[in-house]
Amino acid sequence: MPRTIWVLGDQLGPDNAALAGARKKDDVLFMVESPKHLGKLPYHQQRLVLLISAARHFAEGKRKEGWKVDYYPLEEGATWEVALVAHVKKHKPERILVAQPNNYDEQQAVEKLVKKFPIEILPTRQFLVPRTDFISWAKGRKSLLMETHYRRVRQEFGFLMQADGQPVGGRWNFDEENRKTFRDWVKAGRPRADIAPVKPDKITREVISLVEKKFPKNPGRAADFWLPVDREEALRWLEDFVALRLAGFGPWEDLMVQDEQLLFHSVISPTINLGLLTPRECIEKAIAACEKGKAPLASVEGFVRQIAGWREFINGVYWLKMPEYAEVNGLGAERPLPDFFYTGETDLNCLRQTIAQVRATGFNHHIQRLMVLGNFLLLAGIKPQEALRWFLEMYVDAHDWVMAANVLGMVLHADGGFMATKPYAAGSGYISRMSNYCQGCRYKTDIKTGPEACPFNYLYWDFYARHEARFAKNPRVGMALKTLKKKSPAERKAIADSAKQFLGGIDG
Ligand SMILES: Cc1cc2nc3c(=O)[nH]c(=O)nc-3n(C[C@H](O)[C@H](O)[C@H](O)COP(=O)(O)OP(=O)(O)OC[C@H]3O[C@@H](n4cnc5c(N)ncnc54)[C@H](O)[C@@H]3O)c2cc1C
Ligand code: SF4
Repeated sequence: MPRTIWVLGDQLGPDNAALAGARKKDDVLFMVESPKHLGKLPYHQQRLVLLISAARHFAEGKRKEGWKVDYYPLEEGATWEVALVAHVKKHKPERILVAQPNNYDEQQAVEKLVKKFPIEILPTRQFLVPRTDFISWAKGRKSLLMETHYRRVRQEFGFLMQADGQPVGGRWNFDEENRKTFRDWVKAGRPRADIAPVKPDKITREVISLVEKKFPKNPGRAADFWLPVDREEALRWLEDFVALRLAGFGPWEDLMVQDEQLLFHSVISPTINLGLLTPRECIEKAIAACEKGKAPLASVEGFVRQIAGWREFINGVYWLKMPEYAEVNGLGAERPLPDFFYTGETDLNCLRQTIAQVRATGFNHHIQRLMVLGNFLLLAGIKPQEALRWFLEMYVDAHDWVMAANVLGMVLHADGGFMATKPYAAGSGYISRMSNYCQGCRYKTDIKTGPEACPFNYLYWDFYARHEARFAKNPRVGMALKTLKKKSPAERKAIADSAKQFLGGIDG
């Protein structure tokens, strides 16, 4: 009896557990572009092009290899259930194998379908750390330290480890060598490494037209699509990163330069999140470059930390804490998201540039997300669920599993500090050190309150003043609270007045 291998849209690679034992001769691949999933939110047009084109390329590639593929394109409008009914009628499979979905809602939906169809869900292999393993490590802990998780993964997989059990280079962390400032970048002669966008092929061009027709009001321009859509291209993109940008990744990891969008970042998140790349191969290629002397250890460790550390940790927290996590609002933030997050019309230059970039490309690098957008959303007290929704809509690499803990936990501290011991709150000092945004801004970083002052300055102190009691026992914010306490009543009033005036102006 034939079996069905159900391939979900973000399981398009060699780590798909359902494909592992599949037989080309007997089994049928089943794939659906469900309008329910693709139309759940008004997603950036380029995100939709990526998802649909990658799935179509995968199916096309499998057909060429001789597989039977039963594919339900968006134009047919079939939900998973409708498509399954049609598929079962046609192919009468004895069993339908599917790897665990990566997102909670999808997992729930598949579990519901198990009652109606002979579906077997297999543990996902798309992450280094199995879900159950992370959960048993994390269970019972009041808060989680990414660093502890990261060292555990490095030891278990032997990534950058010596035979004596010590980390290569004698240290776990090379932050001191990394994270150079904008001024350092200028002094170094403004190093850059261009990334060539991928030229859309026939399938992608058709998908671009489809997205333009079906989702005309969604943000972004489908026609400007620029990313890899199949494994071959994704591997080439990774090789390019390792050869051309990995060496500069560490030093320029936190840098932000107006009109220099990608700098030395890998931009592999759009493809690794669809399974087109595996986390292990990304890490191993970076380590191999280090061993051949083509990239310094500090950069390579920084990159390995992102994948083996942060990526796995974020996924672990998600599965540990869902579904309650989606509703957390530990700081009681209730302000609606300002409209300018969609229009980009704001006179805060750092926000204007970052939002313009995501509108154009569906992408910002990590520090833009965390220290510009995220920092602003935190300080302004924006409701976490509204912020999460915006991030989910706007980014090409967005998926619920990766957005939830990044936005709610890391950025907005809405989980009560479960995954970040202190809020990533900062005044203008950080942005002006790491970028040149302030040079083109009407606000002044050296003015602390009033209409000319950079809003990050007074919003930062207003944030701690609002939450003084809550953070009183947190030693990691002790310095900030001590400085706040030293401010005179007049200074505190000026801060509160400036914040009130500014925040009143962004409320719709
Ligand atoms: C508010 C916010 C929202 C984010 N949303 C997403 C998202 O929707 N999808 C997404 O993949 N990442 C997200 N991240 C994490 C990170 O910003 C992106 O993975 C990274 O910017 C992607 O660019 P890159 O591939 O060039 O990454 P690099 O800087 O080159 O890092 C390499 C890889 O490490 C992984 N990684 C690094 N940091 C994280 C992290 N915090 N969480 C998960 N993976 C990480 C990614 O797979 C990334 O591709 C978010 C971070 C923040 C602060
Ligand atoms: S001055 Fe303030 S608002 Fe303007 S770019 Fe700098 S940090 Fe952003």
